[in-house]
Amino acid sequence: MKSLEQLTRPNIWQLSPYSSARNEYSGKVARVFLDANENPYNKPFNRYPDPLQEEVKQRLSKVKGIPAECIFLGNGSDEAIDLVYRCFCRPGIDNVVAIEPTYGMYKVSADINDVEYRPVLLDDNYQISAEKLLKACDNNTKVIWICSPNNPTGNSINREEIEKVLDGFDALVVIDEAYSDFAPQKPMRYQLAQRPNMIVLNTMSKAWGCAAIRLGMAFASKEIIGLFNKVKYPYNINQLTQQQAIELLDNPYDVEKWVSMLLLERKRLIEAFRLLPICEKVYPTDANFFLAKMTDAKAIYDYLVDRGIIVRNRTRVSLCLNCLRITVGTKGENNELLAALRQY
Ligand SMILES: *Cc1c(COP(=O)(O)O)cnc(C)c1O
Repeated sequence: MKSLEQLTRPNIWQLSPYSSARNEYSGKVARVFLDANENPYNKPFNRYPDPLQEEVKQRLSKVKGIPAECIFLGNGSDEAIDLVYRCFCRPGIDNVVAIEPTYGMYKVSADINDVEYRPVLLDDNYQISAEKLLKACDNNTKVIWICSPNNPTGNSINREEIEKVLDGFDALVVIDEAYSDFAPQKPMRYQLAQRPNMIVLNTMSKAWGCAAIRLGMAFASKEIIGLFNKVKYPYNINQLTQQQAIELLDNPYDVEKWVSMLLLERKRLIEAFRLLPICEKVYPTDANFFLAKMTDAKAIYDYLVDRGIIVRNRTRVSLCLNCLRITVGTKGENNELLAALRQY
């Protein structure tokens, strides 16, 4: 692996970050806060939130099995995705490689940051060859994006191929594990200590049922997390979000219950889809959604919208011709979908 200094944009490596009022007196017990020009009234909203979210991170550390100093929290995973570009990729010079098809934000963020995006097509089973990904890289490739379980295909990417990429690449590999709570494999984040070039993304938006609070996370070496912390907005996670996350993390039993209900419903939905004459194929999935090849995705999508049922039409995505992506809902919602499709 290249050194972190070689991988980081020189302006970011040299950056002196903004120092917030609450960073500067650490170690002492404080009672009277006259330092940040806050209003002393209107509790509990009057104070700036903890810029490094220590309480949330302590709890996450226990739940995720990752040291608190190796956790970055962002306004959704999307903030972490953007920070990867802003910390490591020189606009107009560097490039990134990604599996294709995959989550759309890696490319949007590359375009915003003026970084060349090199998609590498998956095979017919939606798998990668490490060799093909590595061949797409050159000396200015800073990042390889892998999403597993992948969106929109739903399948987990072969672990041996992921490990070959991590072993064979001299820059950074991001593994987006947004859906790992639904997958049977042990998440890659547990290899963090052995893999200084890996960044793992997680989110509260899916299994944790908290898309509204916007809390995403990155797990990486404490040196990489230090760079993210330097570049992020000082108070990027608001107080309400931190409080809600703490509540949920203190009581994670709901999450386990939701995941097992959704996995049972997923099985039932997929079996029912396989019996539909308008469904040609359901692809294997390790996520809380599945991809189904239909006879005519556009017409079926429009038909469902007319009945107030929204699924995702992925027919224009590479390798996904005539595919709909179906998120698993409650038993009642899934029954509505099935009833509508049976009447199509
Ligand atoms: C939904 C999703 C996310 C979550 O993004 P947030 O900004 O945390 O809501 C991240 N990655 C993938 C692949 C997703 O599908």
